Amino acid sequence: MVLTGNVEVQTKGNCDIVDITRHVAQGVTESGFNAGTAVVFVAHSTAGIAAMECEPGLIKDFKALFERLAPAGIEYKHDLGSGEGNGHAHVRASLLGPSLSVPFSAGRLLLGTWQQIVLIDFDNRPRTRQVLVQITGE
Ligand code: ZN
Repeated sequence: MVLTGNVEVQTKGNCDIVDITRHVAQGVTESGFNAGTAVVFVAHSTAGIAAMECEPGLIKDFKALFERLAPAGIEYKHDLGSGEGNGHAHVRASLLGPSLSVPFSAGRLLLGTWQQIVLIDFDNRPRTRQVLVQITGE
């Protein structure tokens, strides 16, 4: 059986990292399934989903990594056409990817102790994001 839910997340943009683990865990609990897989997916081209240890040092490291990989202050062809100034955000989101699959058993996500599910918003302004959580299980 498959259940599809939605989590609305407010972000500050500019590589804002939001821990959404409890929302996914709640979805698994509410599904009533014992075992299966939760797919977390964001249907936006300037945001991504990852698993990480969500602590202040790593949050800074993660932001610094993306500044090195796709700096905000260089020219992006996307910006020439759109004028949004968020070419770097699109490139970063594509690199990270929009989804994550997490198995669960006995009604609990099988995440590591220091592993959280995060939404990263790369856009250059605050956004309201819809995160899809699709749970397949029995
Ligand atoms: Zn854009």
